[in-house]
Amino acid sequence: MSFRRIEDAPNNKTALVRVDFNVPMAEGQITDDTRLRAALPTIRALQAKGCKIALLAHFDRPKGKRVPEMSLGPVAPALEKLLRAPVAFADDCVGDAAKSAIAALGAGGVILLENTRFHAGEERNDPELAKQMAALGDFYVNDAFSAAHRAHASTEGIAHLIPAYAGKQMERELDALDAALGNPKRPVLGIVGGAKVSTKLDLLQNLIAKLDKLAIGGGMANTFLFAQGHEIGGSLAEKEMADNAREILAAAKGKCEILLPVDVVVAKEVKAHAQARICGLKDIAADEKILDVGEKTVRHLRDAMKHSHTLIWNGPLGLFEMPPFDQGTVLVAQAAAELAKSGKLIAVAGGGDTVAALNHAGVADDFTFVSTAGGAFLEWMEGKALPGVEALKT
Ligand code: ADP
Ligand code: MG
Repeated sequence: MSFRRIEDAPNNKTALVRVDFNVPMAEGQITDDTRLRAALPTIRALQAKGCKIALLAHFDRPKGKRVPEMSLGPVAPALEKLLRAPVAFADDCVGDAAKSAIAALGAGGVILLENTRFHAGEERNDPELAKQMAALGDFYVNDAFSAAHRAHASTEGIAHLIPAYAGKQMERELDALDAALGNPKRPVLGIVGGAKVSTKLDLLQNLIAKLDKLAIGGGMANTFLFAQGHEIGGSLAEKEMADNAREILAAAKGKCEILLPVDVVVAKEVKAHAQARICGLKDIAADEKILDVGEKTVRHLRDAMKHSHTLIWNGPLGLFEMPPFDQGTVLVAQAAAELAKSGKLIAVAGGGDTVAALNHAGVADDFTFVSTAGGAFLEWMEGKALPGVEALKT
């Protein structure tokens, strides 16, 4: 994928940098600073170029009004600590006060501008608001992939008004996603799990067109098994989606090999440490629920990974929040991490629960790339153009 990077940007100018500082906060305290740390490489790269840095970000959902509890104010001192340098704050992301505060910065100086969503024009992608933002700097850097699926004034509109570049975090994300689906080293294997088929129909359809193999697990596999005529007892399934499941299987035929579970872990109760057993697909009782993939299926997935160069994964293979139903996901994640560490597999994963599951398995750091971008990651897996990314393309 061809887009402009920070190296291509001019030196000694003012950069307007869109970051994702939508951090979890409790009583005015930041409880997880991952997103602040993610912005440091871009800030440092721009400092090294002698640029002033004005940070644009949204926080929460103030719906176009000034809501004091949704101020980005508390973020500035937290960023200051991580950066070990002063971070100024302006209480509006446009206008004269922001302009003079930026003018007062020295080379490499950093300022955080107040919540872009205090303006109704932000989410409307109002050209006038984008123009006022653009007037504050010489060029634009987007480092917020997680907000790139929205065409807002600070994520899309502004990128058309001044030269626009991808930040370091954005660059890492786009390069990883390109390596996984855009231009992957084949064969490419997908693993898709999670609760429902209905939330991931577009995703499944896009993947069968792009992958060599697709393994389906989790609750959504139950719907596929049901569609194939298996007795699935009291398992979570969307029986009304059986036609959709059959259509996906038919569309994949001859193009993308679909791997469904060949054995499963079942239990009568859905709770942690419930009495469980592994069984074949013909052996599920009416009062049992499928809560994980079985060990034979895990072996199949491990083999499929060994015979692939690239893995793209979204969705846990079982009810990973409740042991022992985390085991399928944990074992497959560990196998993927092993292969990725030894350089045999490019392993890319993303999705809210998927990230939690990989952390639970203790392997998130061993994957080639784990996207924490949530909605933007899923839309990208669905094959949708992300407006914030499109605006950076050359
Ligand atoms: P992500 O957030 O990574 O996109 P999803 O939200 O689609 O993933 O799915 C995650 C959820 O799916 C988890 O809460 C997990 O417990 C649930 N799940 C997976 N397998 C099963 C199953 N067999 N029965 C019930 N729930 C399941
Ligand atoms: Mg989820």
